[in-house]
Amino acid sequence: NQPLIKVEALKKYFPVRSNHLFKTQKQWVKAVDGIDLEIQSGETIGLVGESGCGKTTLVNVLLRLEDSTEGSIIFDGLDITRVSQKMMRDKVRKNIQIVFQDPFWSLNPRMLVRNVIGEPLSVHQKLSGLALSEKVESLLDMVGLPKDSLYKYPHEFSGGQRQRIAIARALALEPKLVVLDEPTSSIDILSQAQILDLLQQLKEKLGLTYILISHDLSVVHYLSDRIIVMYLGKIVEQGPSEVIFNQPVHPYTQALFNAIPSLSMQNLSELQTIEGNVPSAINPPTGCRFHTRCPRVMPICSEIEPKAIYVDKDHQAACHLLKS
Ligand code: SF4
Repeated sequence: NQPLIKVEALKKYFPVRSNHLFKTQKQWVKAVDGIDLEIQSGETIGLVGESGCGKTTLVNVLLRLEDSTEGSIIFDGLDITRVSQKMMRDKVRKNIQIVFQDPFWSLNPRMLVRNVIGEPLSVHQKLSGLALSEKVESLLDMVGLPKDSLYKYPHEFSGGQRQRIAIARALALEPKLVVLDEPTSSIDILSQAQILDLLQQLKEKLGLTYILISHDLSVVHYLSDRIIVMYLGKIVEQGPSEVIFNQPVHPYTQALFNAIPSLSMQNLSELQTIEGNVPSAINPPTGCRFHTRCPRVMPICSEIEPKAIYVDKDHQAACHLLKS
């Protein structure tokens, strides 16, 4: 099967200026540094890693909110790194939508729900009047909100309901891919479970493909079919969700997943954290980028960058400890 997205050798570097001995030097933040990945239609991919590992930049480049520095992104057969912003706006972006972390800020407080959800429909499909209201009503129904929500403002809803409005808006143009950026982090626990359930149902009903970014690994576990682990601009491990959760092979993934408190832990002091901070992406460590924090570091690790190898079907990792 042709993947919905195929990313090859993708890089995104940001220029920064630094002053050294009264000279201004131009340096580069290597936020995404040589990523290859494929996402099949209908999959949910969980993207995990600490803050500063490049997840958000990768998604911004996939959405063309930022231009890539190098590499290609084939979305639905089209290399979107090469199309004009106009083509992106008119033809591609309706197929890639995003649901943001905090619906309070992503929904215009001065617009009625009818217009919040209906805006993409009036722009792209020129819907108006009764046809627009009917379409918005059907979207409200799809996300479990009553029809009379149409003429209310976002602030009249709870956090969970606002996230439903944001989901309805994202689905208005029947996208193929939806990016979920921390979709439940700003809502209460009960609504979180309901939103996760809704997202799962919508995916099955509409055949959606999701990219999920979340720091909450239980959310990632619940929704994802496959997990991609990033560290300092690179993918260090990827594989089926159950495998990454239960038998991660890369020391970074192991450390990341060991840092989650489990329900059986009585004492939070049992919680392990990863030593040190993520190093700067301006001059990342040589060899394996995790070598400055890795509990299993070997002499080769600071010299040679490990290549991604298959440890099993569909399960890849990049670490010198592994043999294919
Ligand atoms: Fe640790 Fe070396 Fe593997 Fe990197 S390559 S994760 S430093 S053992």
